[in-house]
Amino acid sequence: MIQKPKGTKDILPSDIGEWQFIEKTARDVCRKRGFEEIRIPTFEETHLFRRGVGDTTDVVQKEMYTFEDRDGGSLTLRPEGTAGVARAVIENGLAGDTMPLKLFYIINCFRHERPQAGRYREFYQFGVELFGASTPSADAELIALGDEVLRSIGIQNVELHVNSIGCPNCRPAYKNALVEYFKGYTDELCDTCKNRLETNPLRILDCKSPICSSIAANAPSTVDNLCDDCKNHFDGLKARLDLLGIKYSVDPHIVRGLDYYSRTVFEFIATGIGAQSTVCGGGRYDGLVEQIGGPKLPGIGFAAGINRLVLSMQNGSNYVKPDNSPALYIATMGERASLEAVRLCSLLREKGYITETDIVGRSLKAQMKYANKIAAKYVLILGDNEVESGMAQLRNMSDSAQTEVSLSADEIARIIG
Ligand code: ATP
Ligand code: MG
Repeated sequence: MIQKPKGTKDILPSDIGEWQFIEKTARDVCRKRGFEEIRIPTFEETHLFRRGVGDTTDVVQKEMYTFEDRDGGSLTLRPEGTAGVARAVIENGLAGDTMPLKLFYIINCFRHERPQAGRYREFYQFGVELFGASTPSADAELIALGDEVLRSIGIQNVELHVNSIGCPNCRPAYKNALVEYFKGYTDELCDTCKNRLETNPLRILDCKSPICSSIAANAPSTVDNLCDDCKNHFDGLKARLDLLGIKYSVDPHIVRGLDYYSRTVFEFIATGIGAQSTVCGGGRYDGLVEQIGGPKLPGIGFAAGINRLVLSMQNGSNYVKPDNSPALYIATMGERASLEAVRLCSLLREKGYITETDIVGRSLKAQMKYANKIAAKYVLILGDNEVESGMAQLRNMSDSAQTEVSLSADEIARIIG
């Protein structure tokens, strides 16, 4: 038996409704706010992610699906969308267009992680990137967009955590203070964090190991170490969130940990879906576009994990399963009836009715059983006599009442409503 690769998922027709609902909701909210869709390649040159995601991140160090192309280059399946979008912005000269540039995407991503509930090796993201605006209003607009999507989906018990990790002016001093503090606990930190002490000390703040997080609890806090500009920016963001009535808590343990991330970082966390509870994470990345060879262009973005959104919908949502059952099933006996059914089906579908007829060659009895199974609302029963006379019985499946109708799509449509 050939099985799907570890950490991947088949999304079956019985589950697809929730996925389509999330995607439609995301598209509608983006449209309302002037964000346009972009589609980027599934794979990119490996060095884009090394530079764009960052060499010291878990993603680049341990999780990428990297392979040698047949002509020798190194390619990587996208582990996220931001780097690819930023590359596309530079390559297509969008950075020269009217600013701000507001983009969104719905993509699959690939990371070689340990699979568990809410964590897969192929997963889906709805992501948003806003370029060319560095005001607190831009940050608030983006967070409000994420908030609106989650509220429109009807995700229960989501909390917004925000933080500011400063800028290239104030972060070095903060980093030093952090390293100083953690050095006092070097022996107790997990192996990964011992490493991070050298490469990426901010990342220790969001380590999930109980010992590291208890040590981190008393570490110097980012928000207490911001320069005036960063502090004003953060205050400006909070004022706008307050104005919009978006509840949040300031959480100094939210970090993105990369050098080009600056100021605002945030996560939406859904309680009640287990350990993998961050449904959406984002932040300001004013250095990214330059970092991968583009012009100086500020940006802020987020990505929401669609798999986790679907999981959290099990605790309640605004999703209503659409009624896709046929308005009409045409049961047939014999070749002439089958031809007539093909004609009527086609006309009724043109009018927008979900219509089916037999294409398996079943007996009349088996066709009636099938019509029941697919919950057809009406069944039209056609044999040679009916085709001959141009009249047939139309059965309402909810009460078995039968009406005689002529074989006219207009007349049938009038009755099935
Ligand atoms: P995590 O803390 O779960 O490792 P991350 O910081 O690596 O998340 P991001 O790179 O910020 O995640 O990706 C944005 C969102 O994508 C996450 O908040 C999460 O909802 C989703 N996501 C990330 N990795 C996975 C995965 N392996 N499987 C499913 N969803 C994922
Ligand atoms: Mg991760």
